[in-house]
Amino acid sequence: MPYGHQYIDESDVAAVAAALRGEWLTTGPTVAAFEAEIAAIAGTDDAVVVTSGTAALHVAYAAAGVTSGDQVIVPALTFAATASTASLLGAEIVFADVEEDTGNIDPESVAALATERTAVISAVDYAGHPADIDVLLPIARAAGALVLEDAAHSIGSTLRERPVGSLADLTTFSFFPTKNMTTAEGGAVVSNSEALITASRGFRGHGLVRDRAEQRYPNEGPWHQEIHKLGLNYRLPDVLCALGVNQIRRLAEFKASRTAVFERYQDGLGDLDGLTLPTKRSDVDPMWHLFPVRVHDGRRREVFERLREEGILVQVNYMPVYWHPYYEDLGYRRGLCPVAERYYSEEISLPMYAHLDASDQDRVIEALRSILA
Ligand SMILES: *Cc1c(COP(=O)(O)O)cnc(C)c1O
Repeated sequence: MPYGHQYIDESDVAAVAAALRGEWLTTGPTVAAFEAEIAAIAGTDDAVVVTSGTAALHVAYAAAGVTSGDQVIVPALTFAATASTASLLGAEIVFADVEEDTGNIDPESVAALATERTAVISAVDYAGHPADIDVLLPIARAAGALVLEDAAHSIGSTLRERPVGSLADLTTFSFFPTKNMTTAEGGAVVSNSEALITASRGFRGHGLVRDRAEQRYPNEGPWHQEIHKLGLNYRLPDVLCALGVNQIRRLAEFKASRTAVFERYQDGLGDLDGLTLPTKRSDVDPMWHLFPVRVHDGRRREVFERLREEGILVQVNYMPVYWHPYYEDLGYRRGLCPVAERYYSEEISLPMYAHLDASDQDRVIEALRSILA
């Protein structure tokens, strides 16, 4: 039993097969169709699909204009890509600590760290619980920075009844198999800013300018295209977009199922002393990607190993990013973000996915109860 798993059914298989039989394997009409579906879920005018959640972060930081000399504020408790993609663009990463209850970036820590050098403040919706973007936006505006929401965990979640995607200046999604929906590999950038969407599309496709009105040498010939700004090839093929269209139409079903798993854990583990269960604040409706529990009394490793021995393939999300030797070698030291470090030292992600059946879940609950008894 893994900690996360895709949920593929025959309708997904049929959608991919139809795409393979069609004319367009890539750069075809299913790309725009998938982008329209994502924008509808995210509450934005547009979306830009790319080859991974990591590519989405790279594209979003590039669209935000992140460059050497800039600072980007990132929570310590996240997957390294939230930071590494900004590092690749030359930014200096400033790690913010997280909140005790949600594991999300702490606005007070952000307010203390933001300066005129801050280009982007990145929030991660840890486990699917939206970060409070409404509080981060005024802090960012005062520093002249943008807010990026790394929503790799949280497509389908809402904050104060507004969908994740419509909250921050830029939001990125991941469609890796363990995430809330999948295209095998894939991701997307959404924004309500036309300029940021245009810049994202540019970076996804080599920065090629095809519009004559914008070209420097429009009379070169009908074949002519120009590069004004560098980009990469991060195009998501139609074959995978077809899977994405079918998956996103099942998102409400996935959310109901993940909510039921969340509630069954709350009922089955809520009374255990040695364990803290994830918090859900009253103003959010999360689509749960992870079920992160915190094991007390220094027993995390023991509990992790005993669950694994029973075939329950739990995970730890995440080691503080600056503990990675790459960041340590840049001078970041342990102790920098104590709340994130304590969170990491206690955390285990229990199996959480859309078709986890009740009897398997009860086996997880029983195993934990007997280990902690
Ligand atoms: C999964 C994940 C990513 C990267 O997404 P990929 O699709 O695996 O590249 C980025 N940030 C967070 C928080 C993630 O969980």
